[in-house]
Amino acid sequence: MICLECKKKLSYLDHRASIELFQTELCSTHRKRLERLVNSNQIPREAAILYYGLIEAGVKPMLAWWDGKNTVDLAISRVKLNIEVDSGYESLSHEQALNDLEAAMHSFKNGFTTIRIPNFLIRNHLQESVMNIVGIIEGLKLNVRVV
Ligand SMILES: [Zn+2]
Repeated sequence: MICLECKKKLSYLDHRASIELFQTELCSTHRKRLERLVNSNQIPREAAILYYGLIEAGVKPMLAWWDGKNTVDLAISRVKLNIEVDSGYESLSHEQALNDLEAAMHSFKNGFTTIRIPNFLIRNHLQESVMNIVGIIEGLKLNVRVV
């Protein structure tokens, strides 16, 4: 077990703490750094889980990306794809849903695609979520070439 960021060997406790928090292997330094990033940007912890899932699939996303107006949970700039992690649809109010739709409209107008993924899907179906996002990235690449 080694840290994905610095390749440092992990103790069993570091391994367990890191898996519990982020479902990935990080040393205590990188785990704490990631926790600070998540807390200071107020992004869901699942965004960090998805971030490392995508990295393992060969994608290079940006975590907590400032787009000039908002902090996007995850962004894949090459194909102008933004990914927002939702806290679960059962708690979604009409107002929030309308805000999300409006935000999606603005991002489309600016050439960006925004997808929203519920946090429980990332927790319970990380591989499937990653595979679908990889498919979306491939589709977007084709579209970029046509335009
Ligand atoms: Zn490390």
